[in-house]
Amino acid sequence: MTRQAIEITGLRKTYAGQKGEPDKTALNGVDLSIPAGSIFGLLGPNGAGKSTLINILAGLVNKTSGQVGIWGFDQDVNPRQSRAAIGVMPQELNIDPFFTPRGALDVQAGLYGVPKSERRTEDILELIGLSDKAEAYARTLSGGMRRRLLLGKALVHNPAVLVLDEPTAGVDIELRQMLWDNVRALNKQGMTIILTTHYLEEAEEMCDEIAIINHGEVVVRDTTATLLGQLDAKTLVLTLERDTALTLPEGVTQDRKPDGRLALTYRRSQISAGQILAAVAEAGGVVVDVTSEEPDLQDVFLSLTRSAA
Ligand code: ADP
Repeated sequence: MTRQAIEITGLRKTYAGQKGEPDKTALNGVDLSIPAGSIFGLLGPNGAGKSTLINILAGLVNKTSGQVGIWGFDQDVNPRQSRAAIGVMPQELNIDPFFTPRGALDVQAGLYGVPKSERRTEDILELIGLSDKAEAYARTLSGGMRRRLLLGKALVHNPAVLVLDEPTAGVDIELRQMLWDNVRALNKQGMTIILTTHYLEEAEEMCDEIAIINHGEVVVRDTTATLLGQLDAKTLVLTLERDTALTLPEGVTQDRKPDGRLALTYRRSQISAGQILAAVAEAGGVVVDVTSEEPDLQDVFLSLTRSAA
């Protein structure tokens, strides 16, 4: 049987309402297991509950009820071991400006009780490409360097599971590539990686499996390949010179947009845009303008929650 890096059952979190506001349920009974050795994506719109879930895993937020197992350690029964098994690279760039990268890594290692002889400070500096900045004050580091330092801090205790919260939000392409190269290398060495992202493309490229969270619940969890198979819908939006009755190839659905344009939705795996445009021309349709729409995360939710209903 595959070993599970994370096992979550019946996880709920309700934040108490402030100043007369009603309580807010952020997680509403999440069951989720994440296999060891995988790169696992947690996707969902803003407010879905992703950060709450990650913060509970990291031990930063107390759950309301349910069970959380990290690397086989129940958070309630073995809090110390379960905390030692996980490292989190947070979203915000909260780095003490007066520490150097080497100092920050040492302090972090101290917090996790890593003995001096077992610290891998130099290796980590090398991995995150900050060896030559090891003695620079953090306030002189660029945003990209700070982010890499946050990754380094998450690694000081050599956790079995690494969690990355929106690691590439607002990051330029070069840094994104470097972060992903690092993450892949760590995964190759056996580290389980969990990441949240808004970018479907990134999840497609990086993750073996994906869970989509919406309104505090896991609405779907599957391999990336299977999910992508469901995502190959695409839409061509046509402006025609005049209304024309169209006979379209099988599998193409027609819809009229509020502005009168024609939306033709099809499966990329079954038919090409060229074939559809040819059929439109064949039927005497004169195309004035054409744009296309790819499914985005929102569409994925809609289609998945609809088909699950
Ligand atoms: P995500 O990371 O997917 O954007 P969050 O876990 O941050 O989602 O938020 C889930 C829900 O819980 C949201 O409705 C959010 O407003 C609420 N929430 C998050 N943190 C708090 C908090 N500290 N106090 C009250 N409500 C919160």
